[in-house]
Amino acid sequence: MAFEGLSEKLQGVFKKLKGKGILTEADINDAMREVKLALLEADVNFKVVKQFVDSVKEKALGQDVLASLTPAQQVVKIVNDELVSLMGGTNSKLTYSPRGFTVILMAGLQGTGKTTTCGKLANYLKKNGKKPMLAACDIYRPAAIDQLEIVGKNVDVPVFTMRDCKEPELIAEKAMKEAELKGYDVLILDTAGRLQIDEDLMNELVRIKQRTKPHEILLVVDAMTGQDAVNAATGFNEKLGIDGIIMTKLDGDTRGGAALSAKSVTGKPIKFIGVGEKFDALEPFHPERMASRILGMGDMMTLIEKAQESYDEEKAAELEKKMKKNEFTLEDFLDQIGQIKKMGGLAKILDMMPGMNNKAMKDVDLDSGEKEFVQMEAIIQSMTKAERKDPSILNASRRKRIAAGSGQPVSKINNLIKKYEEARKMMKQFTNAPKFKKNKMFRG
Ligand code: GDP
Repeated sequence: MAFEGLSEKLQGVFKKLKGKGILTEADINDAMREVKLALLEADVNFKVVKQFVDSVKEKALGQDVLASLTPAQQVVKIVNDELVSLMGGTNSKLTYSPRGFTVILMAGLQGTGKTTTCGKLANYLKKNGKKPMLAACDIYRPAAIDQLEIVGKNVDVPVFTMRDCKEPELIAEKAMKEAELKGYDVLILDTAGRLQIDEDLMNELVRIKQRTKPHEILLVVDAMTGQDAVNAATGFNEKLGIDGIIMTKLDGDTRGGAALSAKSVTGKPIKFIGVGEKFDALEPFHPERMASRILGMGDMMTLIEKAQESYDEEKAAELEKKMKKNEFTLEDFLDQIGQIKKMGGLAKILDMMPGMNNKAMKDVDLDSGEKEFVQMEAIIQSMTKAERKDPSILNASRRKRIAAGSGQPVSKINNLIKKYEEARKMMKQFTNAPKFKKNKMFRG
């Protein structure tokens, strides 16, 4: 995940400060020198770094002592606030047409992930109650149209194409008419990409913009290209005018400099981030959450949202009833494993928890945890319905049969039953805990 190095270094700086109690100007200067280096190493734009460090220093030195915080905590708070404001303050939402039919123009250089992101965005919109349609406006590469059609199938969203038409603005216009006629409320235009910004591409995009008057022009940039991504955003913004940025491949970018510099350099906010190749790996960008992640304070909000997304109210109520009656079965155990998988697996969950994304956690063998889940699933799936319902009938010969069926030694079967019994006992104790309700409070 992004910001690993930066996160570690900043936490190191704060640890040193914490050890000092009272801070002198020299302490702050030393700390800021280290912060500056850490930001530069994370590939943050040097002008941005300078402004950032100057601003933190000024605030730290001018700060009245707050009774509730130690001096070191105050510095952490100032750095946190500055990081949040550097990334744009609050989450920038999409603009929808007040008339009810919204056009989103997607632009970006080749290979940044534009077509994939069109699919991710359509998927995101669908989950949020919209009825999106995609349109293929790349007239240069037939393969690009094929790709968008596959993407559309994957997320179950229709794709408008006009394979023989050589005017992308006409395709866009026809797509709008078709989408509106058929009752779709968002049209996402996938446009051609180039290896670099050139005059023809810009003119083409401007023509599409003039014809379709999009409510939202989103530029897709690749976080892994660092400052090149920021330069591309500047170029597109000057020539086309953009409303926001979708930064892809943040999962593969350990430095994070582009994400930290983009808003400050271009003036345009990052609206979404891509965090994986799958179609659900798109998240609204929340500066305050990202700052907490960088400072090692975790990202509980995103974790809660993920839990809510994969949370099935009916199932939970059913589970609670079962737990109360002490009827939690291996079938339910299997369901629980599925839930963790739906939330993105153990590694993703731990990454978002406070204090869990630091170095110490790197030593935890998550792979073996995930592997264990797969083995558990295989074992439970090799049981009969009756066995899943009432594991007490699992005698030696049944255990042997399950071992053979799941390709696991009998000891693993015994171990699973033990774990299940423990979970059952623990859950019994929790049955009186407050109910976890799905609500809209945390929606971004
Ligand atoms: P386009 O040329 O800009 O349309 O790019 P594509 O949509 O074809 O994507 C290029 C590659 O980037 C594909 O292999 C995608 O799966 C991958 N990709 C896109 N977004 C992400 C992301 O957020 N994370 C990762 N790891 N890969 C991504």
